[in-house]
Amino acid sequence: MRVFLDDLPSLGVSRLRATGAITAEMTSVLVEIGGASVEVGLGLVRFPNKGSWSFFLCPQCSRKGRTLRLYEGRLLCKSCLVARGVRSRCEGKSAKRRAEMRIPKLKAMLESEVSLRLKPLLWGKLERRKRLEAALQRAEYIVNRSEFKQRVKEEGDVAVHSKVSAWLRSSRSKGG
Ligand SMILES: [Zn+2]
Repeated sequence: MRVFLDDLPSLGVSRLRATGAITAEMTSVLVEIGGASVEVGLGLVRFPNKGSWSFFLCPQCSRKGRTLRLYEGRLLCKSCLVARGVRSRCEGKSAKRRAEMRIPKLKAMLESEVSLRLKPLLWGKLERRKRLEAALQRAEYIVNRSEFKQRVKEEGDVAVHSKVSAWLRSSRSKGG
C-alpha cells in the first residue's frame, strides 16, 4: 500500500507551544518514539509585538519546519519525506480536485463543531468555526469557478466553431 504524507503520525510544534510543552526559551525538546528518546532542536522567530513562533529543526537535515512526521522510525520534515518519495495525497491533482477533496473534511469538522455547541462556546471555538466556514466557502468557490470555466471553455469552443463555420460558409458562397 502506498503511504501518503497525510497518513503519517505527525508532531506539530504549535500544539506543543500552546500546551506549554515547548517554550520560547527552549533550544531542544525530547520526543519519545517507540520507547527511545530523540532530541529535536528548536528554532525561534520573534515578532516585534513580543510574540514568537517556534520551529522544529529537522533531525535529518536541520531545516526549519512546523511539523515533523514519523516515517520508518524517524522524525522527518516534509522535504526529507518528499526526498524519500512520500507524497501528499492531493499532490499532482488540480486545484479543483484538491478543493473537492477538502470539502467533505471541512464539512465534517464544521458538523463536529456544531455538536460541541452544547458545551459553552469559547471565543477560540467561534474563531475556529469562522475560519472553517471561510475555508469551506473558498473550496466551494474553487470548484464552482473551475466548473464555470470549463463550461465557458466548452460553450466558447462551440461558439467559435459555429462562427468559423458560418464564416467559412459565407466566404465560400461569396467566392462561389
Ligand atoms: Zn528534513
